[in-house]
Amino acid sequence: MRYISTRGQTPPMRFQDAVLVGLAPDGGLLMPENIPSVTSKLDGWRGLSFVELALAVMSEFIDDIPSADLEDLVRRSYAGFDSEDITPLKQVGNIHILELFHGPTLAFKDIALQFLGNLFEYLLKDRDQYMNILGATSGDTGSAAIAGVKGKKNITIFVMYPEGKPSHLQELQMTTTTDKNVHCLAVDGSFDDCQSLMKTVFNDLEFKQQYQLGAVNSVNWARVLAQVVYYAYASLRLSGSGERSVSFSVPTGNFGDILAGYIAKKMGFPIATLMLASNENDILPIFFNTGVYKRSDVHFTLSPSMDIQVASNFERYLFLKLDRDAEAVRRFMQEFEKEGKVVLSHNYPVDEDIQAVSIGTQETLDTIAGVQRIQDYVLDPHTAVGVAAAKLIPGEGPVVCLATAHPAKFPEAIETALAGQEDASVLDALKHPRLSKLEGLKSKSTQISADLDSLKKYITQHALNRTAEESE
Ligand SMILES: *Cc1c(COP(=O)(O)O)cnc(C)c1O
Repeated sequence: MRYISTRGQTPPMRFQDAVLVGLAPDGGLLMPENIPSVTSKLDGWRGLSFVELALAVMSEFIDDIPSADLEDLVRRSYAGFDSEDITPLKQVGNIHILELFHGPTLAFKDIALQFLGNLFEYLLKDRDQYMNILGATSGDTGSAAIAGVKGKKNITIFVMYPEGKPSHLQELQMTTTTDKNVHCLAVDGSFDDCQSLMKTVFNDLEFKQQYQLGAVNSVNWARVLAQVVYYAYASLRLSGSGERSVSFSVPTGNFGDILAGYIAKKMGFPIATLMLASNENDILPIFFNTGVYKRSDVHFTLSPSMDIQVASNFERYLFLKLDRDAEAVRRFMQEFEKEGKVVLSHNYPVDEDIQAVSIGTQETLDTIAGVQRIQDYVLDPHTAVGVAAAKLIPGEGPVVCLATAHPAKFPEAIETALAGQEDASVLDALKHPRLSKLEGLKSKSTQISADLDSLKKYITQHALNRTAEESE
């Protein structure tokens, strides 16, 4: 399987190279040359465990890693999850909740980033290379990225976050890591400052090359691929003998999660409707309901990991939607860059497979309260957005709501929703041993000012580089 750029100006490459470059050199995103159909294999796959299915699904897209090695990578990636099923399904009233939060940082990003960390380590070792990862986070992604690469050989990670902005727990999840290859940088500025610093450093090609800078953001194809697995898993579990299809409701920010579902559907897994659930940041619901893709300002909500306006993985969807016409994708993205608005002239609905809705703060709080009262199940605010959407959109077959974070990560929103009515089971849901044990651990981060010189100086002093390694 070869990988091609959504903008069409990068020569095709193998899986390994697609993972290591992340973004295509022409500015596009990498996509498999075709999406394999697995319809004839589904019956044989129904009884597989999560790890076995992961291996089967990934092998459809990876042909340049020996299968014994891939199996070892997959097994190690999910060994630290605290559920035997990895992503257990729970029936809650008339919906099914697919719990994606059993990894080390209690959020669904662990599923992809645990795999990506192991994969990076494997590929770098094989090539005798190293990588310095630079990331910017407003809270959640940083800890999952750190958990994915901490202690890994040939990798150092620098995570910038706006000082004082992540919640106390989010900050502890990042800064209590003791591995030497992890550097947390508290930037005296906003999240935007962190992101623009990151962009500037990545645009300095000489510096980037010298320090072998890499990223773990959601444009990496391996992340999307790892996420296809749980759609496959849940749809096979719930579709019975294959007669019926399953619908999924997906709390959406960067479009990475739902894109994986879209690809699973194109592969032939028994998936009916994909429900795209946004918070007040509604660029995607507006697009899917009107065909107009228009940038606006970011709203800050109770579901901060979805406070995104321009979703980076949307370009992959566009590529498929525009029948792999890279020229058309390039024109669309250029026009969007310039005008902040593009109209995709298509019939409505824009996509038969995706129905989208935006959920407000009050609906989110009401959903948390309602599900707790009636089903005694505590939703985190991201998951609640998806559950609220599932009530509004008519879905075919069993409906699966993806639970993207453990409620204990967002206690404030839940306390607001339940307004003092917390009983023992709620208080229990708001605790998690992986979080409680962070309190009291030593926390380590370095403050830097929000300027390029400070950042580069820090990286220069702490990055892995050939000479340092050789003198070890
Ligand atoms: C990242 C994240 C999302 C959004 O996923 P995308 O792939 O960006 O659409 C939803 N919920 C939680 C808890 C997240 O961390």
